[in-house]
Amino acid sequence: MARYTGANCKLCRREGVKLFLKGERCYLDKCAVDRRGYAPGQHGQRPSRKPSEYSFQLREKQKAKRQYGILENQFRGYYRKAARGKGVTGEVLLQMLEARLDNIIFRLGFAPSRKCARQLVRHGHVTVGNKRVNIPSFQVSPGEVVQIKEKSRQLPLVHDALKRMSEGRQVSWLSVDKVNLSGTLLEHPSREDIPTAVEEHLIVELYSK
Ligand code: SF4
Repeated sequence: MARYTGANCKLCRREGVKLFLKGERCYLDKCAVDRRGYAPGQHGQRPSRKPSEYSFQLREKQKAKRQYGILENQFRGYYRKAARGKGVTGEVLLQMLEARLDNIIFRLGFAPSRKCARQLVRHGHVTVGNKRVNIPSFQVSPGEVVQIKEKSRQLPLVHDALKRMSEGRQVSWLSVDKVNLSGTLLEHPSREDIPTAVEEHLIVELYSK
């Protein structure tokens, strides 16, 4: 699956919010949104025109895509599945994004960013229910145990990420075992338990046109 390989901080500056794409740096004064809080590029500092309804919807969709590290086709696929599923489409969409294996690794604190988590998965360092899974988009089901493979448990990246993970970043719908580097998705989270600033109803409005 293709992935974005450009500059991460530009994505945050374009959206005007911190998307936390770079791990520890995002929490320091070096963050580009704090230092240069305007859009990137030659015209970034120009006063913008009054945004249309469409532009609000588009920006919200871009923000979600960029935050979870997903490109357009795959994101649209998630929307289609969410629209077919039971429940509120926007909430189901976020639940599917949160259940991605790379996101679970990030939320458990085993990687400083989703991008690093994706790499851990791609390089075969992760198991789900004792089977190696190297697909970052793999959907983890409630009750499944996600673990860093035994041979990979000495990776400094994982231990550094765990040390730096602040208490406030832990979510109630995941249980973490920091000794065995494993975690379990207890249940699909409700909207209020998903710590993301995306207004998903705007994404639904955009795609349902
Ligand atoms: Fe975004 Fe992190 Fe870069 Fe700040 S440091 S602009 S939050 S990726």
